Amino acid sequence: MTLRSMQELLSDFAEHREWEQFHTPKNLAMALTGEAGELAAEFQWLTPEQSADVMADPRHARAVRHEMADVLSYLLRLADVLDVDLEQALREKVDLNALKYPGRT
Ligand SMILES: [Mg+2]
Repeated sequence: MTLRSMQELLSDFAEHREWEQFHTPKNLAMALTGEAGELAAEFQWLTPEQSADVMADPRHARAVRHEMADVLSYLLRLADVLDVDLEQALREKVDLNALKYPGRT
């Protein structure tokens, strides 16, 4: 699946439920933050070792996968609504980070 096809899937899902009226940039940014918190909660109180092994437990792995999907969904919707090219934005940011944090050559 491409980013664009994922955005179309999510846009169609929202359109068929008449949820587009709720998908303002503000609401989507807030929902994204909430879902990031739900993802973080899956790791709360785990030791570093337990967190590295989280996918070994099928129930926990499923919860982590689903929260990651929620985060991705809202990021994709937000980018769609704001007409942000996520691939271009990622390249720009990686290039800026490379200048800011030069690695070993
Ligand atoms: Mg969630």
